[in-house]
Amino acid sequence: MRAVWFDRFSARPLLRDVPEPTPSPRGVVVRVETTGLCRSDVHGWLGHDDGITLPHVPGHELVGTIAAVGDEVRSFAVGDRVTTPFVCACGRCPECASGNGQVCRNQTQPGFTHWGSFAELVALHEADTNLIAVPDSLDAGAAALLGCRFATSYRGLVHQAHLGAGERLVVVGCGGVGLSAVMIGVALGAEVVAVDIDDDALVRAARCGATRTVDSSALSRDAVLEALRETSPSGFDVSVDALGREETAAVGILSLRPRGRHVQIGLFPSDPVVPMGTVIGKELSILGSHGMPAHDYPGLLDLVAADRLRPQDLIERRITLDDVPDALVAMGGDRSIGGVTVVDVGA
Ligand SMILES: [Zn+2]
Ligand SMILES: [Zn+2]
Repeated sequence: MRAVWFDRFSARPLLRDVPEPTPSPRGVVVRVETTGLCRSDVHGWLGHDDGITLPHVPGHELVGTIAAVGDEVRSFAVGDRVTTPFVCACGRCPECASGNGQVCRNQTQPGFTHWGSFAELVALHEADTNLIAVPDSLDAGAAALLGCRFATSYRGLVHQAHLGAGERLVVVGCGGVGLSAVMIGVALGAEVVAVDIDDDALVRAARCGATRTVDSSALSRDAVLEALRETSPSGFDVSVDALGREETAAVGILSLRPRGRHVQIGLFPSDPVVPMGTVIGKELSILGSHGMPAHDYPGLLDLVAADRLRPQDLIERRITLDDVPDALVAMGGDRSIGGVTVVDVGA
């Protein structure tokens, strides 16, 4: 089968023929229909993820059709159209037993712990725990984006921060995951303010329903906070750092009201300094989000089915496997590529 493959971090990936995967006893092999190109793929390719062994095939947010099933799979069959959270849980450890498979201690991640979905076929483990049936009517790009970006934002805002209707949300960083947070915040009835250094990103955020935007390109941290105070004088109820920089996390945290909740979604290249004095003095909550277990997907799918959430509206580029090496290299060199790219692998 054809796959996007690399054997050195940061070296240009190749499109080449590799052996087809076979399903593990409780796993499946999925024929990839569409897969998203996510900033985490770039982190992995640059060597920031120590779960990756070389050579490697990246790709972790996907929709496709089951091509082969392991002997012990009970709930899914060849031909089913499915997606999966990028964190595949084991279904048996204490975290899984408590309903928190997104932090499973035995987790597997396609495109990280094993070969991923920038390929014609991808193996997924513990299918009965992790697969989510996807209706044929759902746009393939939208379905793919549910595997990582929308699930991570949804879990962060709904299950972690408990964002409520009428609350004020600030989203710092309006790439794919930030825009999904804007969209979800709006769908939940929050009043959303978006911050980015890029005009186009802010236009996209406004299109997703942000009521105010702050262009932080020429502003100091204090000036950004001052601009945010003008939009919400008593502070925000919830903040999201969707980028993963010391400055963006600090802006999110420092813009909160007392007892506000900060959700960290953007991944850091290395651990940041966090304004802990403010965290203590205002009793802030700092929350992570690491995707969402399959059993929590119905709430997200309901929003999509009701057309209150339209992941497909974020998609600006549809490319093929042949285009992925160049796209990864471009994304690695420039954070302002903007908008969401999905890869149509097969029909
Ligand atoms: Zn587990
Ligand atoms: Zn991702």
